[in-house]
Amino acid sequence: MEVGYEELLRYTKDHFIRLARENRFPENDRIPHDRDRCLVCHPEAIKGNSSLFFLDLVVECISERRSKIDEDLIQAIKEELEMNGMDRGVELEGLLEGDQKAFEAWRLWAWNAINTAFEMLSIHGDSAPYLQLEDGFSEEEVDIRLRYLFNKQLSNTAASKK
Ligand SMILES: [Zn+2]
Repeated sequence: MEVGYEELLRYTKDHFIRLARENRFPENDRIPHDRDRCLVCHPEAIKGNSSLFFLDLVVECISERRSKIDEDLIQAIKEELEMNGMDRGVELEGLLEGDQKAFEAWRLWAWNAINTAFEMLSIHGDSAPYLQLEDGFSEEEVDIRLRYLFNKQLSNTAASKK
């Protein structure tokens, strides 16, 4: 039976988002799945720009794993700052209120989270590409996704407080 493209998209997205939710993304190469319906196993079947397809996929996975702006996320941002030899001074309130310095710290975290997810995705199989944000993406393409991720985390945070 011929499987439609929408079905491949849905299957691939569902599969990787579930792995992200269960924190099994690092072992995504060893999780049994329907490889015929997986667009990471079959990137040649991706319609349009495949790099952007992978970027959108990992951003969705990160928004599943890190769905809110909370103390856990602030802790992760602080660790990222420290690893980059920067001051750990970022606070939850500042980030929620749109403080520029806090957002820059968040951006550094998000950038590295995406690159780490790309690295994990590259082990998926022989066909999986190795991508990094600084190669092959325009500033605008990256900024749109980062804003999307931040806004999604913000709205989830607001929704959970109601
Ligand atoms: Zn696969």
